Amino acid sequence: MFTENRTVQVHHDYRLDTDNTLALASTAQRLVCLDQVSQIPALQQIAQTEPSRWVLGGGSNMVLAPYIAGLVIKVQNRGIRLVSETATEVIVEAQAGENWHRFVSFCLEQGWLGLENLALIPGTVGAAPVQNIGAYGVELEQRVHSIQCWDLERAQWQHYTAQQCEFAYRDSLFKRAGAGRYLITAVQFILSKASGWQPVLRYPDLLQSPKLQHTINARAIFEAVIEVRQAKLPDPKQLANAGSFFKNPVISQANYERIRAQYPAVIAYPYEAQFKLAAGWLIERAGWKGKQLGPVGMHVRQALVLVNYGGATAREVAQLVERVQADVYDLFQVELEQEPITVT
Ligand SMILES: Cc1cc2nc3c(=O)[nH]c(=O)nc-3n(C[C@H](O)[C@H](O)[C@H](O)COP(=O)(O)OP(=O)(O)OC[C@H]3O[C@@H](n4cnc5c(N)ncnc54)[C@H](O)[C@@H]3O)c2cc1C
Repeated sequence: MFTENRTVQVHHDYRLDTDNTLALASTAQRLVCLDQVSQIPALQQIAQTEPSRWVLGGGSNMVLAPYIAGLVIKVQNRGIRLVSETATEVIVEAQAGENWHRFVSFCLEQGWLGLENLALIPGTVGAAPVQNIGAYGVELEQRVHSIQCWDLERAQWQHYTAQQCEFAYRDSLFKRAGAGRYLITAVQFILSKASGWQPVLRYPDLLQSPKLQHTINARAIFEAVIEVRQAKLPDPKQLANAGSFFKNPVISQANYERIRAQYPAVIAYPYEAQFKLAAGWLIERAGWKGKQLGPVGMHVRQALVLVNYGGATAREVAQLVERVQADVYDLFQVELEQEPITVT
């Protein structure tokens, strides 16, 4: 059932079961789709009367409640354009609803390089800056030029340069702002042409990849990243999940030394004068790798990935999260922070 408001359709009691990669059964009280930015005035009219708003992309970083009382805005505007170029660089703009991996592939085909380490991350372009997606040594903030978004609270356009986005590890201004305030409509990226391109090959998984033993170019890295990810991470289409479920905790050197004294095998990396612990290792040592609690569990090969074996609810996810966090804390006195957003 839906009613119409100018150019935006309002869907009532809209099922989101197939709109989230954790495959949680969920219904939105009201849902609108943003297909093009010209719909923004009509969307604003609807949104401003809603006390509770949520912006949804591909649903790959969310834990959805069974019933979401309020308005869900599903972003699906598409389009990619070359904004400007020099001999070594390009600025490219993608609309927020573009599929992230398809955008990365498209850029590679055009010879616009620098996103190859971020291949195969699920979701949309518009969500990518929200948690400053990162993988295999590259974080989005290194490639963002600027962001166009609609501020639903102030009913006005905002343009942010990369510096203004307050990017941090799996974090940004957009993630910290109240839910449903900013609607990112387009992202501009600064990418390299072949003459200005530098490979990022810090991760052992990539260095050891057979695809990179003879030739090192952006396509070879793109293919190696895909191969490594497919071998390591469960495909949400086969086994519902939201990727890494916890952030890698960043701790002080003293705290790291304390843990290492007791657990010499602890996996950690220096990070901005601190240490980033591998959350998957902590979870595994706490005994949760491959362990299930009702219909949810921590993946048998990747302890950091929480999976839904079928029919789980947000409550069951929360129960497992609490148990894992408590056991990791008991063992290491380290707090694990959940990465996906919980939508209530
Ligand atoms: C198998 C798997 C592997 C993953 N691997 C990685 C990885 O390597 N690195 C990594 O960083 N992440 C990873 N993720 C997490 C996820 O893919 C990213 O966070 C992705 O950017 C989420 O995109 P989405 O469109 O699905 O966002 P959603 O889940 O729909 O939304 C995520 C957040 O962004 C907000 N949002 C979405 N679109 C917009 C918009 N247009 N404007 C404003 N806010 C918006 C939402 O409100 C929500 O707060 C993985 C997930 C899965 C399932």
